[in-house]
Amino acid sequence: MKGTALESPPKSSDRSLRTMRRCLLAAAFLLLILTPLLNYYAGITFIQGWYQSLGIGELRLISPLEGLESILVSRQIYVPVLIGMLAPLVLAALLGRVFCSWVCPISFLAEAVATLRAWIMRKKRFHDRLVLGKRLLWYALVGELLLSLVLGAPLFVFLSPPGLVGRELMLAVYSHRLAWEGILVVGIVVLELLTRRFYCRYFCPLGALLALVGAKRRLVVAHRPDRCTGCARCAQACPLGLRPELGETRTAYCWNCGTCIESCPDRALQFTWQTSTLPLSNEIGNKD
Ligand code: SF4
Ligand code: SF4
Repeated sequence: MKGTALESPPKSSDRSLRTMRRCLLAAAFLLLILTPLLNYYAGITFIQGWYQSLGIGELRLISPLEGLESILVSRQIYVPVLIGMLAPLVLAALLGRVFCSWVCPISFLAEAVATLRAWIMRKKRFHDRLVLGKRLLWYALVGELLLSLVLGAPLFVFLSPPGLVGRELMLAVYSHRLAWEGILVVGIVVLELLTRRFYCRYFCPLGALLALVGAKRRLVVAHRPDRCTGCARCAQACPLGLRPELGETRTAYCWNCGTCIESCPDRALQFTWQTSTLPLSNEIGNKD
């Protein structure tokens, strides 16, 4: 896998995907800030919680990993938890790991750091200093679930970086303090100065679970070899270090961010809705 990436903006004139994704990431982050403020200071409680457990009116959405952990640790199945997990699971099954690339607050922070870094470095090449094997992601998921079982406590409920952002904001508004676990988020943001999506690529169990559920997703980035000139701009642009020109958009690792689509000057990549599921050989991805 390549360890370098070009941090300059895409050459393609079509930047609408990037704008849309950044707007959604910013809106999702803003929701995390506004929710506790509205709950606490204005008494408006239509929306409550954060992305581990989010209540919108009567609807409750529960993060699949935290829900699974709670079921495994308690060895009891709570129907409301299952119902709350359903919508995120269906979304991942159809669209893949889009929560990661379009909603997650960690992605928002990482993208902010990447934008700042690109601005500081201008057109210099960025060298990703920490490139590991992609399969680490699956080990992170299995390890996290096993550890929770052994300890008898749902670890990710307390230590999930995507959840911690919302929890810290809630604590700051309600108790005017922060929890020490928030240091994990600071660490991830600092690491982002040296590498790209290090935590998301290799260590996030939630990202791994969503990738697994979305392995046979219907929304994929399709590559058109007849248009491809092999310039590899897409590979340089991919935040996960994938090789779209070699078909890695179809592996479970791809989170459908669309960055490679914008970076291609020949429009050889495009979002496609598949009517049949992905071939078995592409489910997990076979390259490291
Ligand atoms: S991998 Fe984890 S931290 Fe990264 S974007 Fe996905 S859920 Fe968020
Ligand atoms: S292959 Fe393309 S869509 Fe998939 S993660 Fe990389 S840049 Fe995003």
